[in-house]
Amino acid sequence: MKQSKLFTKTRKEAPSDETSKNAQLLIRAGYIHKEMAGVYDLLPLGSKVVENIKEIVRQEMNAIGGQEFIMSSLQSKDVWTATKRWDDDVVDVWFKSTLNAGGEVGFGWSHEEPITEMMKSHLSSYKDLPAYVYQFQNKFRNELRAKAGMMRGREFIMKDMYSFSLDAEHHEDFYQKTIQAYQRCYDRLGIGNDTFITFAGGGAFTEFSHEFQTICDTGEDEIYINREKGIAINDEVYNDDTLKKLGVTAGELEKVTTAEVGNIFNFGTQKCADMNLLVTSEEGKQIPVYLGSYGIGITRVMGVIVENLADDKGIVWPEEIAPFTIHLLTFGNNENIFREAESLYHDLENAGIEVLFDDRDLGPGQKLNDADLMGMPYRIVVSEKSAEKGGVEITKRATGDVEFVDPARLIAYFTEG
Ligand code: ATP
Ligand code: MG
Repeated sequence: MKQSKLFTKTRKEAPSDETSKNAQLLIRAGYIHKEMAGVYDLLPLGSKVVENIKEIVRQEMNAIGGQEFIMSSLQSKDVWTATKRWDDDVVDVWFKSTLNAGGEVGFGWSHEEPITEMMKSHLSSYKDLPAYVYQFQNKFRNELRAKAGMMRGREFIMKDMYSFSLDAEHHEDFYQKTIQAYQRCYDRLGIGNDTFITFAGGGAFTEFSHEFQTICDTGEDEIYINREKGIAINDEVYNDDTLKKLGVTAGELEKVTTAEVGNIFNFGTQKCADMNLLVTSEEGKQIPVYLGSYGIGITRVMGVIVENLADDKGIVWPEEIAPFTIHLLTFGNNENIFREAESLYHDLENAGIEVLFDDRDLGPGQKLNDADLMGMPYRIVVSEKSAEKGGVEITKRATGDVEFVDPARLIAYFTEG
């Protein structure tokens, strides 16, 4: 893409009411636009980042048998009253509205009840199980405080997956597979080393649920970790009893500030029993199905990546997430140099490499600052100076490492590693 055609502009200052680093940088670099507190538009660059994050998660969910679908955002009151979760005292984040035709609707903050209701039309026998479904969707939550930019929105994108299994053993097997798939996701998202699977407050069925928590100063949670033993414990279940069960002492644990980037939850047969999702067992009995629920905060992850990887100059995207692999810059008034840059841009794109070509009529200072702020993994400068030094100048955004490469070898540099 030619940067002269990109309608979004970078800006020097973030809005004064925006205090988090992730929102400041994403707004300044033109990835998002703030509609109101906790509500952001994804501009073309931001939308590309979210699509890249979704693609990683999609591949990992498909690999364990997930089927992608999309449920509605408008939800019927009836499915939620059945489990008493329509009540604002039980669920304090509901957005609700009334229909002109009469009656109330809710805006989906979660989909456990609607999916269970929907599955009644499709699951009736043990032969129909297991079923694993997931979606990417805007969730609506009337959060009291929306202060951490993309990390706590009132409208945000979540990946939510639901598993329907015949018995405890099959359920547990998929639960473990999901844990591994989540770990692969966070590794590929560039935050694997800082992300811990954490013992957290139990669900309806099990003593503990699991959260995925990433060390992050802007996070709202605190957990206790032991890196060697690979143990992490959420604040809410941190007590002598838990420590004993997990075989650690308080002295071996380090307290860190984290953001919850994922949550997996075992409902056992409770939800399906409450909602009457029953199947016929092999013995001909009507039995409730085991439900698991597995979330990843897609836009929160985007915020955490910015928070954790950015430096004082701007955003630093991991390669798999960046909207463009290369930010190609050219300066000066030399026609030939500009033409060479333009032809490299076409060659790289033809080779399937995503390039943002800064073809704007601006000085080096501004172009370099924008490249640093926007955070593409590789910056390539084509200029008279780079030609004198032996070709084009490649700088890795994450490390600042510089190399000069013969333009004839540029495609090979990116395709052959
Ligand atoms: P939190 O404790 O942070 O409010 P939660 O327990 O309410 O999270 P879940 O209902 O399990 O979260 O949602 C699944 C995932 O969605 C969370 O792990 C988190 O990554 C993300 N998430 C939850 N609330 C928000 C929000 N308001 N904005 C952005 N992402 C969110
Ligand atoms: Mg919440």
